Amino acid sequence: MPGWEFFDENEKKQIDEVMETGIIMRFGFEGQRKARWKAREMEAEICKKTGAAYALLLADGTAAITTALAALGVGAGDEVIMPPFTFVATFESIMAAGATPIVAEIDDTLCLSPESVLECITPRTRAVMPVHMCGAAARIDELLEICRAKNLLLVEDACQAFGASYRGKPLGTIGDAGCYSFDFNKMVTCGEGGAMVTNSRETYERADMYHDHGHDHTLNDRGAEGHVFSGYNYRITELHAALGLAQIAKMDRFMSIQRENKRVLKEKLSEIKDLQFRTMTDPDGDCATFLSFFMPTEDLARKAAASLKEAGVAGVFHWYDNNWHYIRNWRHFKERNFMNGIGSDILNGMPDYTKRTFKSDRLISRCISITIGLKWSPGDARGIAEKAADAIGNVL
Ligand SMILES: *Cc1c(COP(=O)(O)O)cnc(C)c1O
Repeated sequence: MPGWEFFDENEKKQIDEVMETGIIMRFGFEGQRKARWKAREMEAEICKKTGAAYALLLADGTAAITTALAALGVGAGDEVIMPPFTFVATFESIMAAGATPIVAEIDDTLCLSPESVLECITPRTRAVMPVHMCGAAARIDELLEICRAKNLLLVEDACQAFGASYRGKPLGTIGDAGCYSFDFNKMVTCGEGGAMVTNSRETYERADMYHDHGHDHTLNDRGAEGHVFSGYNYRITELHAALGLAQIAKMDRFMSIQRENKRVLKEKLSEIKDLQFRTMTDPDGDCATFLSFFMPTEDLARKAAASLKEAGVAGVFHWYDNNWHYIRNWRHFKERNFMNGIGSDILNGMPDYTKRTFKSDRLISRCISITIGLKWSPGDARGIAEKAADAIGNVL
């Protein structure tokens, strides 16, 4: 999956172009930068790829989510509904915006369950944040309908799904704002980086100010620019944007390699009758970073994961035992081990997650994902598929 596996001369050339001027900052220095604007160029590419009207490149995906929420006016006293299966960054960024994360359930799409969202809505709910996990879409049309009916914001954590779509609509562009990550392990990488997309000019302008200390970016003189709102510093550098530009140019190739390798693996594993694949709301829109499936029991899932690893299959995840992607092991979050004081607005509304049980356990405890390799040749893919089928077959 990770795009760094395809680093070549193009990344170096892009970075050299920045180093030739030495202007690593994305704003200002017009006289010295020789018209090189890597972050702006990458934003234009993101708009082209996604069809979004506006894109803002940021330091990372976590910063993108925080900035999106702030730009939409979500903060203290507001609740944001999120799934229990996601990277910890989802609740981190909600809390960084000052809002309260409310954890609902997932369903067999591995994404936020619309039914459970309905159960979590309170008068304080402001936004729903589905996470398009492992590169494929949530039940996004049902979630959108709920948000419209209840007058809630829809903010998509599409950090794992840049390039994926739902019925032709790029993920991240369906809600009020969408966020992508270009961190080192994502399919398209800036080393560290993220982006927020929106079709609202106002939301974009507010995000643009928020991520750069409130700068309104109306002048060429940063010292003289106005500051209507205060903000933070979530800027990306030109070096990271340059790297991302080289990567985004390879994205279509990444997707077609992954889709073909996934097809080979899935075809082989579908011969195993006790194995049930993740429900895909739109299989054609999957960016094919993972193949995910359910084993009949938790015990068999754990055994299958061990057997796959033993057989030498790389990138195998049994998420139930993972410390970072499922709430079961988020002890720091559940026990409220925050490093500094957390606003009472956030904590007062937050359920006691040490006491809550999740129906999602029944799905995640049986779920395994295998990372689809970008570097697999067609022959490798067939070999890995056979190895994986044997390894799983051995425990059934
Ligand atoms: C990677 C990721 C993020 C955060 O992105 P960073 O760029 O690493 O900050 C957020 N949400 C999900 C689901 C992710 O996978």
